[in-house]
Amino acid sequence: MGRVVRGLRRKSRLECGRVNEVTMRTTPRWSAALLLALATTSVAGAWQQPRGLKVFVSVDMEGLAGVVSSSEVAATGPDYGHFRAIMAVEANAAIEGAFRAGATEVVVRDSHGAKQNLLPRDVDPRARLLRGQSTGPKNMMEGIDKTFDAVVFIGYHARAGTPNAILEHTSTGNVVDFSVNGVSLPEGGYNAVVAGLAGVPVVFAAGDKALVDQLRGLLGPIEGVAVKEEIADAVLSLSPWMAQEEIRRGVEQAVRNRAKFKPFTMPSPYTMILKVKQERPLYKGAERVREGEFRFSSSDFLEILNAFNAMK
Ligand SMILES: [Zn+2]
Repeated sequence: MGRVVRGLRRKSRLECGRVNEVTMRTTPRWSAALLLALATTSVAGAWQQPRGLKVFVSVDMEGLAGVVSSSEVAATGPDYGHFRAIMAVEANAAIEGAFRAGATEVVVRDSHGAKQNLLPRDVDPRARLLRGQSTGPKNMMEGIDKTFDAVVFIGYHARAGTPNAILEHTSTGNVVDFSVNGVSLPEGGYNAVVAGLAGVPVVFAAGDKALVDQLRGLLGPIEGVAVKEEIADAVLSLSPWMAQEEIRRGVEQAVRNRAKFKPFTMPSPYTMILKVKQERPLYKGAERVREGEFRFSSSDFLEILNAFNAMK
């Protein structure tokens, strides 16, 4: 569970599903920022600014405040619209925290399912949104490169098989376990390696308590907000509005303290062991160890992810 937020002055009069209200309340500030940006630089120039402070925010859904069942994060679910609005609220809290810490650029990667959950107009316009399925191996980290200074995970969940976790899985429901060099990796783990290849540290993660504990065990003492906790398969959650306050504060602190965090790397060459429920065709160069278990080695971590994505 996250820390209890004290002294929160603003009343929780907003409803999570009503993103329009959020947008309307905050439009004047955003408009002013946009006008200033347009007045001081050409649009082309804005894409070629000298190096500032760049933050990459990868946003999944299972670890958002309140989410307890998979139908809530599936486009066909009756309450999907409500939870997709919470996704925007938590993403915007991270964006706000990053800018308060001095970010000059924020890129948000929609990282859930078909990657079309965040509606562009709901996202803080100071950020750029990377949405839609990508063909490369980076997937939830598509768009990361060495120009970034910090990575933030929002709405993340623990890996398949984690006890006391909400909607724990590793990429697909078919994966039993994915390990590299003997280390069992959650999505936040291999995504941290992808960031690490570019020399960028993960500085913050929000999700359930199991996720935050798991990533700290793997990456070290990153900043984190446990927005909820599993209790006998049910979820005890912060209000999305309280989660938003904590995420904003936590991301601001994490980005300010980014020099404390090291990029996460694993020694090459890499050997992955993938255990699945249902076998897929063998990836070129992979070997079948036993039923449902595959091994693949490469000195290129992205090639490891290509094999994982093909057989998961
Ligand atoms: Zn996920």
